[in-house]
Amino acid sequence: MTLSVPLLAELRGIVGAPRVHDADGDLVAYSRDATPLFTHAPDAVVFPADTAEVAAVLAWATRHRVPVVPRGAGSNLCAATVPLRGGVVLVLTRLDRILEVSADELLARVQPGVTAAALADAAAARGLLWAPDPGSRTVATVGGTIATCAGGLRGLKYGVTRNHVLGLEAVLPTGEVIRTGGRLWKDVAGYDLTRLLTGSEGTLAVLTEATVALLPAPESGNTGVAYFRTLADAGAAVAAVIRAGVLPATLEFLDRACIDAVEDFAHLGLRADAGGLLLFGDDGPPDLVARHLDRIGTACVDAGAIEVTTARAVAQAEALLAARRCTLPALSRRGGVTILEDATVPRPRIADMVDRIEAIAARHDVRIATFGHAGDGNLHPTCVLDSTEDTDEVRRAEAAFADIFAAALDLGGTITGEHGVGAAKLPFLGARLGADHLALLRRIKAAFDPAGILNPGKLGS
Ligand SMILES: Cc1cc2nc3c(=O)[nH]c(=O)nc-3n(C[C@H](O)[C@H](O)[C@H](O)COP(=O)(O)OP(=O)(O)OC[C@H]3O[C@@H](n4cnc5c(N)ncnc54)[C@H](O)[C@@H]3O)c2cc1C
Repeated sequence: MTLSVPLLAELRGIVGAPRVHDADGDLVAYSRDATPLFTHAPDAVVFPADTAEVAAVLAWATRHRVPVVPRGAGSNLCAATVPLRGGVVLVLTRLDRILEVSADELLARVQPGVTAAALADAAAARGLLWAPDPGSRTVATVGGTIATCAGGLRGLKYGVTRNHVLGLEAVLPTGEVIRTGGRLWKDVAGYDLTRLLTGSEGTLAVLTEATVALLPAPESGNTGVAYFRTLADAGAAVAAVIRAGVLPATLEFLDRACIDAVEDFAHLGLRADAGGLLLFGDDGPPDLVARHLDRIGTACVDAGAIEVTTARAVAQAEALLAARRCTLPALSRRGGVTILEDATVPRPRIADMVDRIEAIAARHDVRIATFGHAGDGNLHPTCVLDSTEDTDEVRRAEAAFADIFAAALDLGGTITGEHGVGAAKLPFLGARLGADHLALLRRIKAAFDPAGILNPGKLGS
């Protein structure tokens, strides 16, 4: 669509002219997110300052049937913020205040534009832990991580974002402001709209404030590495670790291509001859952490690890976690484009899934490196392409991912464990949910967004 001059003038009247951008450069910048291959320009980019402005913009959009795409940092990996039908990209990063951190109530109240790292730092300053820990935490916003129900490196022990959201302030597409949940740890009055909005990918409401649960910060933490001959061996070791009776805070894996890329990037001295590694860690009192790491290491050796090492100092443990976090940027340096997916399978099927991914990559003649959150069964097969210009290569990559999603479903898994559906995974959602479930999603969407203006072409469309 194209916004007419009078409509743009109305929008400027709501948030102030400097907060409505429609210059070509801005429209190009907000036509994409961290997902390659998807792009579509909005007609305007709007930066509201508070809930009242968000409400006024949404009421205006519903009145005039203008699509609105809420956006935090745009770091999502499923084209969730690409404005497929034009309209307005509503950027929430000006709502960036931490309103409260309460050590007594173990909670924080934040605006949606606060980064996950800033919330974690504010919690840490009070001796508390904000548990969700996505690799993108320095840029990803709390609003975005709630809207995608982001996971991360601590999912196995601490769960994902939905396990830590107590309440939300949200603006419906009609401009109505609602509050769900609140400061209570127990509250079953009514449907759980907090959970419904968590992971709703900006298709039901715009989140303008969140009350989140914090935990006492663990006393200490440490990290170790177990090297294996193959990634499938590392996958099989995951079950052995869990059977050892320890729930590690971190249980991540990297295949040989990822180890090479990370080593080139971060120079940590990772073993070049290993086919796969497991990065494991735990937190808590130091003696307990030492005992747990010992048990995890032993389980890995029993499962065939060729070497197990434990970090000797906090800095070394931090460096190992940083290495895992930099896997995607490290792989990105290997080619013109990296397409990262997050097929997820039940934990005991990880080794099968790894084998299937390798066979699929060979069949379609594409380079796929795999890393991920092994403890959650969450794999990130990542296709490294020379460039998006090579249409045959792109087509082969897309065919490979279609097969990878089918393989995940066949193994009892899902098409996305944490990144979301967005535009990228919408074609595969029916295979995961079935027609009746999809129809119910559409009815829920219509109840929240009768005019269908919020992030159209995504979930619920
Ligand atoms: C290097 C890298 C590492 C990553 N690691 C992880 C990881 O470990 N785990 C993980 O889960 N993800 C990871 N991601 C993906 C991404 O960072 C997450 O999906 C994150 O939650 C997105 O936050 P954002 O602020 O960038 O949201 P955006 O990308 O801006 O938006 C994401 C979705 O949320 C909606 N949205 C944003 N703000 C609001 C709001 N205020 N109200 C309503 N809807 C809103 C948008 O419409 C969109 O649907 C990674 C990405 C990168 C680039």
